[in-house]
Amino acid sequence: MTDVINDLQGKSIAVYCASSSAVSEVYFEAARKLGGLIGRSGATLVYGGTNIGLMGEVADAVINAGGKACGVITVLLNQVGIAHPKLDELIVTDGMRERKAAMEQRADGFITLPGGYGTLEEIFEILTLKQLGILQKPVVLLNTNNYYSPLLELLQNAADQHFMKPANLSLLKVVNTPEEALDYIANYVAGPYEPKWVLPRASQSKAGEVPGLE
Ligand code: AMP
Repeated sequence: MTDVINDLQGKSIAVYCASSSAVSEVYFEAARKLGGLIGRSGATLVYGGTNIGLMGEVADAVINAGGKACGVITVLLNQVGIAHPKLDELIVTDGMRERKAAMEQRADGFITLPGGYGTLEEIFEILTLKQLGILQKPVVLLNTNNYYSPLLELLQNAADQHFMKPANLSLLKVVNTPEEALDYIANYVAGPYEPKWVLPRASQSKAGEVPGLE
């Protein structure tokens, strides 16, 4: 971990995760562990900005470890009064889209802990951008307690049935521990770009005629 901690100094890491506070302790434990490591690494946490659920747990752990936390929240959610009160920076955006864009721009890498609709939307937007070659940053899924295993099966099914290229499954790095997640980001080297489009079998040999395909 020593190298990882050195390598992450000065970086910003976005964490997407649940706003729910009703989930099992095993998920809070992973959130705390991840936050503590980010805080000790000298990296800045970028996240949804609230003090609730796994989001609040990650932020608390970063701050308790002496690290920096930046929240990005919408005007509406800020008015509800759930913004974390101890952040180094709180960015208030007009809407959810601007909020996601701000997080994407600031982050050098993305880690997803278990979550619901909001978390899934965030991770899939990032993966969609990465698949189009618009974003080249590391994207990690922390499969705590095998929470995401059914989703990973679905993605494999999508590749098997030609809804996506098998090579693009690797745009998402799947790990089981917070240490592995940070290690991946610290040592990340962007791979060659694999165009997203999946052509009909008969067209494969004509791929060179399609702009952007080899
Ligand atoms: P969910 O997984 O549905 O709980 O949504 C959590 C994710 O969506 C987080 O990573 C947040 O960035 C975003 N999000 C959802 N709800 C909120 C909220 N109340 N405040 C700020 N961000 C939220």
